[in-house]
Amino acid sequence: MGEFELIERYFTRPPRRAVQGVGDDCALLAPTPGQWCAVSSDLLVEGRHFLSTVPPRALGHKALAVNLSDLAACGATPTAFTLMLALPRVDESFLGGFSQGLYELADAHGVELVGGDTTAGPLCVGITVFGDVPPGQALRRDGARVGDDLWVSHPPGGGLGDARLALEVLRDQAQLAGDGFAALRRAMEWPQPRVALGQALRGLAHAAIDLSDGLTGDLGHVLARSRVGAEIDYSALPRSAVLAAQPEPVQQRCLLGGGDDYELLFSAPAAARPAVQRAAEAARVGVIRIGTVQAEAGLRVRMPDGRVLPQPPRGFDHFAGDA
Ligand code: ADP
Ligand code: MG
Repeated sequence: MGEFELIERYFTRPPRRAVQGVGDDCALLAPTPGQWCAVSSDLLVEGRHFLSTVPPRALGHKALAVNLSDLAACGATPTAFTLMLALPRVDESFLGGFSQGLYELADAHGVELVGGDTTAGPLCVGITVFGDVPPGQALRRDGARVGDDLWVSHPPGGGLGDARLALEVLRDQAQLAGDGFAALRRAMEWPQPRVALGQALRGLAHAAIDLSDGLTGDLGHVLARSRVGAEIDYSALPRSAVLAAQPEPVQQRCLLGGGDDYELLFSAPAAARPAVQRAAEAARVGVIRIGTVQAEAGLRVRMPDGRVLPQPPRGFDHFAGDA
């Protein structure tokens, strides 16, 4: 099968909202009148962002999920996306599963694939998403104010750090006593972007970010952009029963340094607590208060015994340690 047959078979559907989708030199989108367009891109590279053993359907889901998560962190409503694919070979069982996972999530969020590029090369998936947000209402990283509550979202019965724990188990850096691996693997391969929550937080949250590189690192971005500091209460961090059964150092690494959570971290004034709870209920996702924004720069992680954790695990940085 050649490049164009592949695109036609796996990545072409009739346009819905788009004026023109896949098949011409450009896609044509009619902007929603009166809305700003939010744009975000994420690149997933085999061996870096996903393992070669990932089921293709999960990869299709996750590639779009991590991009929708960025729109969620802005409070935007997804409208369209493009897909850049490098494939080592034409593998129809891979393409079938991948496109299925991709379209299932796209349909769940009413977002359509309008174009992209396909080349031969080491397996690599890049997506650019487009979304609508009312003028001036996008959630941003720079709006946190002293005295705000810090909140995180979490799955029902779950928490932060499960995706990281899955990776550590696969790499033999952590051991599981029971049979909790299926739940961890689900957290790693099937993240659920908090799109409805992001939209419901417009006008409520002062600042927001999605957790992709670990809590301390991502919260650090919000604090730096907002020119504030924060204290978080370690015992308040939501964690699954599987993670809670791990030795304390593993829990700390996964909760604070984790990564791949795709939950929303946001700040909101204390007066907004009931409204935040209502927003989360409407979006069918859990939210929990984990700390407070403070004037003093830096991040303090308060442990159950009252002391501040001296060196919290750092967030993920692809080039950390490079010259
Ligand atoms: P051009 O050479 O003009 O850039 P291409 O030949 O690369 O166009 O692509 C043909 C059409 O297929 C274009 O409309 C492009 O957007 C679309 N396309 C290519 N790859 C993908 C993909 N992976 N997913 C969706 N659309 C794609
Ligand atoms: Mg091209």
